[in-house]
Amino acid sequence: IRYSEDKGWYDARLEPYGPIPLDPATAALHYAQEIFEGLKAYRHPDGSIACFRPEANAARLNRSARRMAMPELPEELFTGAIETLLEHDGDWVPTKADNSLYLRPFMFATDVGLGVNHPSRNYLFILIASPSGSYFSGGVKPVTVWLSEDYTRAAPGGTGEAKFAGNYAASFLAQAQAVEKGCDQVVWLDAVEHRWVEEMGGMNLCFVFGSGENARILTPGLTGTLLPGITRDSLLKLAPELGIPAEEGRISTEQWREAAASGELTEVFACGTAAVITPVAHVKGSQGEFQIGDGTPGPVTMLLRDELVGLQYGHRSDSHGWVRRLG
Ligand code: PMP
Repeated sequence: IRYSEDKGWYDARLEPYGPIPLDPATAALHYAQEIFEGLKAYRHPDGSIACFRPEANAARLNRSARRMAMPELPEELFTGAIETLLEHDGDWVPTKADNSLYLRPFMFATDVGLGVNHPSRNYLFILIASPSGSYFSGGVKPVTVWLSEDYTRAAPGGTGEAKFAGNYAASFLAQAQAVEKGCDQVVWLDAVEHRWVEEMGGMNLCFVFGSGENARILTPGLTGTLLPGITRDSLLKLAPELGIPAEEGRISTEQWREAAASGELTEVFACGTAAVITPVAHVKGSQGEFQIGDGTPGPVTMLLRDELVGLQYGHRSDSHGWVRRLG
């Protein structure tokens, strides 16, 4: 779907997947006005296809658009694009449990010219899709994370809460460092004190304190420098319904280390569309390394995972109206 300042959104069309010609002076290639979303289409037991809270992705795309001085895309065009794609390519939504069709809507600046004085006046919104399995090889295998003190992903007043391409470009070096240190993923800390936990490379973090009836969840609050994950938001609502209080707050790396040592912190997991819910077992950083619990996936992690996956794949009744049939 194209956008121009005078016409608004126009020229919505379905085209075969393939390269798109771009002028070398296309604005997005120089000044990085590119935002995106990520969601999945799931096959339900009756054969129908559903997405999980697509309107939340549409709303977040528009929040990202406002931050990056880009035009907002009406929600009906966003969900309409998904519907059109699934009508045509629904067969690509896998029938195998745990697999899905990953949908990648994105929007970028298409003005041609090297002037940097004002945002682009023309944009292109595209939706592409790709079959997807588990994010981390090994399925729900616990991961090891690296506390990144050398780099920051987002600063106050910056673009951290937008799903903006540049945030990810700025992450690659730290992610490479994490891998070098023998870790699967980087954990971002705040840009000012380098001690408050924010999120991971492509997912939010949740901490479980206590166990059994006393278990409670803490997730870093939305300070403006982390991405407001839709999975995170869903879990903040689902966990209390399962008897597990969940709140937003602050946790520092020292608190994380101390609570893990004392046994007060029982589980840590990452959550996101691609990663679903993935246990975090080991933590490494400049102060050494430590383990969470006995290093195996904990009961709260697995309970929430089952509940979320059950909703997404249509095995649980959807009391929130989160599941949207689209095919
Ligand atoms: N943080 C970052 C940086 C991400 O890229 C993602 C994935 N979109 C998330 C968190 C999780 O968000 P969601 O639950 O909406 O997928």
